[in-house]
Amino acid sequence: MGVSVSMLASGSRGNCAIVASAHTRILVDAGISCRETFRRMKTVGQDPHSLSAILITHEHSDHICGLARLARKLHTPVFMTGATHQGWARAVRDEQGEKPQLEKFERFESGHRFQVGDIEVKPFTIPHDAADPVGFTFRAEGIKVGFVTDLGYVPASVRDHLRGCDVLVMESNHDLEMLRVGPYPWAVKQRVMSRVGHLSNVALADYFINDYDNSATFVVLAHLSEQNNHPEIARREAEKALATRGGLFHNRVLLAPQTEALQPIRL
Ligand SMILES: [Zn+2]
Ligand SMILES: [Zn+2]
Repeated sequence: MGVSVSMLASGSRGNCAIVASAHTRILVDAGISCRETFRRMKTVGQDPHSLSAILITHEHSDHICGLARLARKLHTPVFMTGATHQGWARAVRDEQGEKPQLEKFERFESGHRFQVGDIEVKPFTIPHDAADPVGFTFRAEGIKVGFVTDLGYVPASVRDHLRGCDVLVMESNHDLEMLRVGPYPWAVKQRVMSRVGHLSNVALADYFINDYDNSATFVVLAHLSEQNNHPEIARREAEKALATRGGLFHNRVLLAPQTEALQPIRL
């Protein structure tokens, strides 16, 4: 059956994806409602009750807002770092006035790999303004998937982790010019553009041109801003950058949408 990646939702209004092997299914982030997660899982042929684990990258609401309910309903183990767990608990308490409980909370540490079924997970630190944000690589059946969104820039450590990926999911958040002239208040623009904000199309292109090892069969552009980007601009920038490496022959560029699931990528 092989390995599959299903992008259920991607962007500032909610993030959720599934990385699956023949025997294991991992939900990466729970940033859309429980109901919508169930609905989109159905459209990609996945049964919510068969999830092996839920992994959380960081505690921003577009990555966790469906978590409490989803975990309660499915009794699925939830994996996150201690600091992310505290950040999540604080956010839920502030909103609902009660201390949230996770039935099965599994703590991991950035930099330390762990196993979920037959999938090996390696979390690594990314530069973003959250308590303890991480990206992941997943390995199963000889396939490597790299998954990294919500980062201000691509540090050397992240570039190292992303070598040899067969599927690469990466943030292509904004077009710098659209952000500059767009409707966001100046303080928000500065946050997005900062070293702990979000990755621009041009920063991703720069990574492709200078550091990427051309290993992926599929490159997925993720966490696109609806206000400050356009899918075709993001695609054009990425394809132009990959073409300079002669990499367009084997890198298929896909875009992860906000409002619907992308058909599963299978390897
Ligand atoms: Zn986000
Ligand atoms: Zn974030």
